[in-house]
Amino acid sequence: MTPSTNSHSLPQPLSAWHTESIEKSLSELDSNAQTGLSEQQAAERLQHYGLNELEETGGRSSWSILLDQFTNIMLLMLIGVAIISGVLDLLALQKGSLSAGEVPFKDTIAILAIVILNGILGYLQEIRAEKALAALKSLASPKVRVIRGSKPMDVDSKTLVPGDIMLLEAGVQVSADGRLIEESNLQVRESALTGEAHAVTKQANLVLAEDTSLGDRINIVYQGTEVVQGRGTVLVTGTGMKTELGRIAELLQGVESEPTPLQRRMTQLGNVLVSGSLILVAIVIVGGLIRSGGNLNVLQELVEVSLSMAVAVVPEGLPAVITVTLALGTQRMVRRHALIRKLPAVETLGSVTTICSDKTGTLTQNKMVVQWVTTPSQTFQVMGEGYAPIGEFQIGETPIAVDEYPELEPLLLACALCNDAILQYEKGDWQILGDPTEGAIIALAGKGGIDKEPLTLKFPRVGEIPFSSDRKRMSVICQWPVVSGELANNEQPTTNHRYIMFTKGSPELVLEHCHSFQHGNKTGVLTDEQRTEILHNNNRMAGAGLRVLGFAYKSLNTLPTLGIDASETVEQELVWLGLVGMLDAPRPEVMEAVRRCRDAGIRPVMITGDHQLTAKAIAHALGIADQGSRVLTGQELQRLSQPELEQLVDEVSIYARVSPEHKLRIVQALQKRGKFVAMTGDGVNDAPALKQADIGIAMGITGTDVSKEASDMVLLDDNFATIVAATEEGRTVYDNIRRFIRYILGSNIGEVLTIAAAPIMGLGGVPLSPLQILWMNLVTDGLPALALAMEPPEPDVMKRPPFSPRESIFARGLGAYMVRIGIVFAICTIALMAIAYQYFNPHWKTMVFTTLCIAQMGHAIAVRSNNRLTIEVNPFSNPYLLWAVAVTTALQLALVYVPFLQDFFGTKPLTLIELGICLLFSTSLFIWAESEKLFIRWYRNRG
Ligand code: ATP
Repeated sequence: MTPSTNSHSLPQPLSAWHTESIEKSLSELDSNAQTGLSEQQAAERLQHYGLNELEETGGRSSWSILLDQFTNIMLLMLIGVAIISGVLDLLALQKGSLSAGEVPFKDTIAILAIVILNGILGYLQEIRAEKALAALKSLASPKVRVIRGSKPMDVDSKTLVPGDIMLLEAGVQVSADGRLIEESNLQVRESALTGEAHAVTKQANLVLAEDTSLGDRINIVYQGTEVVQGRGTVLVTGTGMKTELGRIAELLQGVESEPTPLQRRMTQLGNVLVSGSLILVAIVIVGGLIRSGGNLNVLQELVEVSLSMAVAVVPEGLPAVITVTLALGTQRMVRRHALIRKLPAVETLGSVTTICSDKTGTLTQNKMVVQWVTTPSQTFQVMGEGYAPIGEFQIGETPIAVDEYPELEPLLLACALCNDAILQYEKGDWQILGDPTEGAIIALAGKGGIDKEPLTLKFPRVGEIPFSSDRKRMSVICQWPVVSGELANNEQPTTNHRYIMFTKGSPELVLEHCHSFQHGNKTGVLTDEQRTEILHNNNRMAGAGLRVLGFAYKSLNTLPTLGIDASETVEQELVWLGLVGMLDAPRPEVMEAVRRCRDAGIRPVMITGDHQLTAKAIAHALGIADQGSRVLTGQELQRLSQPELEQLVDEVSIYARVSPEHKLRIVQALQKRGKFVAMTGDGVNDAPALKQADIGIAMGITGTDVSKEASDMVLLDDNFATIVAATEEGRTVYDNIRRFIRYILGSNIGEVLTIAAAPIMGLGGVPLSPLQILWMNLVTDGLPALALAMEPPEPDVMKRPPFSPRESIFARGLGAYMVRIGIVFAICTIALMAIAYQYFNPHWKTMVFTTLCIAQMGHAIAVRSNNRLTIEVNPFSNPYLLWAVAVTTALQLALVYVPFLQDFFGTKPLTLIELGICLLFSTSLFIWAESEKLFIRWYRNRG
């Protein structure tokens, strides 16, 4: 492609941007580095270029999804049954032995119809699930900071257009291809594109040769790559499919739809059921032949019985119910602000034993207000609310004039200049764009009469060493104003220097790099006593739960090179300015959430980069830790070996001043102790810990794209209470899955045993045709099972300890229950079968069929609760089940009494007495299930 110079009103993106100078690129795309595009230009270009989206070319085609449905072993067995049944009908047709009125190939057609229907349903569900996941993905679609109409703003990455000026910072996933305009320490990981794991250092002021390879185009950033350090300003040159990533769109990483452990276990179960039923079939045929003394005439009956058993054993409705339940679970979780990115998280969330949470923003509100400022000679209280730059400084109760305290001025300058946030007055309120900590100190500067916007023009930033959670501080280098003496009435902190560097960050670390302090207009050498005093003041504020930042500056004559080791070489010999303490109140709802965690046997653990005393104060206020609780700092942790850490993790509930790599060690240690860990994170360096955790949780609001990409779940509101809510949903989903599995499989066992009993009892003929069995498995089992998936949580769902995620789905008595209820079920129907065969002969099969169906209705009602009796459960708390039971019963009666359905399903109309007998036998299953609950209750009370 060549640069567009034609008459087309909108520029055409070209591909060789690395060969263009910054100015040429800007003019090519008719953009401006300072003002960006206007809103109107952006809208026009969006029309022209389309949304900045990748077309999903990767993944399976619709055909392969459809074909996959038929490779399921249980469906293959059904197809086998259909074929054998067809062959039998064909033989009967040839022999003329078909009974009058019997439609040939009915079972074959019905089974094949069910197979096709099941396949189509499975296909539709998968397509729908993919669409739903895509919709969820767009919910999590990243925001991008751009300059439009001269203003910085966050826009949806989908609306980026060529010509936009995009701002990058650490943790951002680059949303479009672009030519760098300026950068500071910018390092980008391009592994998604080039496979190169190491981050590439980018440089704006270069023009490269045409044949420079992709990985060496260091003046360009590419969509899908990740900023690991620094910042940059980028002219967007390509969006959507017109990007390098677009060209290799199969690299697209989206929301993953991998099978859940449960789905995998269900596939295994399918294999077991199929092989089990084949063995059973062999036993019935061989046993039957031996019993009849090798009489081949009974073979046809034996084959028919076997076919029915094979159909009966397959829980045809189960896969659909599981998919629907998981999908409903993700929807309920989104409603509670938890966005599931990886489906297995839905069912495993309920097993979480330890929640490791960040403090700032997750446990606290992340709405910072500065309350105290301490300079080397004075402590000031700061009044005012929210981010409004309005309020006064007080000493004691007395308001003071800021300009009477010369130490305050450089401190407030540092607040405004060593800052990347933007304070805006919008919709009647002061709001911040960027980090709330930084927002709070812009507001503080404003209260002291210093406005950030004009100041940044006066003191242009010429260099910076960005903030990272590892360094816990940041520095900026600004040029002194060309016209001096403009700063209030005071002298400048230093004179005759061309540059000034401001540093802010963790007070201990900043202080460590200071050798003097600001006192009035002068500087003095820091003594050990002063250091102790400063740290004492820091501890006092932190102990009250405040977040404290330390400030310092340094004058420079020449601009230092800011290489990788800038932190070591440049941030030295600083002049201490003071401390700023801000309140970040705990979230009120978290206290209740922590209490619920404890009730549910889940241990909350705070892992923060903040000071140990701040962490302790907040943890106490929230009930995460008590007075005697042990706090482990990053420094202490650093000295511990991994086995030593493993010895401690069970006792420590607060980790303070930790770095992201410590988080990884903590998760590993907890996992080694057998814990199932959920871990929150927001920064780019949190990604390894999020991946390692059993449930990695990213922050929806403050989280970086990189952390979201690594997570299983995103908190749309960044709130700890949401994790607890999602855990409750997870437990409910798992409970419901177990509930309908025991309902469905119990019934299958009952059916198989009943069918197997018929030839043994010498009844002659199969009590249930394959068609009737399919009806039961799909409709009379399927509908109530779906309704059971909607069951609200049991009252004790968050009052019991978590279950191991590694436990079998049949654990805690579920397997035994299924077999027990299957046998009880079979005994009832076999008893009924014996009576019906003897006394109501032409109708005995219909009676067995009806009893099996109606008994399941009673069972569905009884399994609603594991330990509460049905009369203790609100019947209307799951109206779906009432509907399902009513509709299924009505359908069953229709099958028995509507002539056309009678013909098709091979039923006979029952008399009232016959129906009454069926009802009587049916209730026995319900009575049994309820008696079991009573017995367990009695047994427990006794113990
Ligand atoms: P949490 O880990 O609970 O979110 P945190 O916000 O304190 O807590 P980090 O963001 O890793 O964790 O910050 C670590 C420390 O770095 C802070 O306690 C503070 O001292 C310092 N810090 C935080 N933000 C900035 C910033 N924008 N500029 C300079 N220093 C900062």
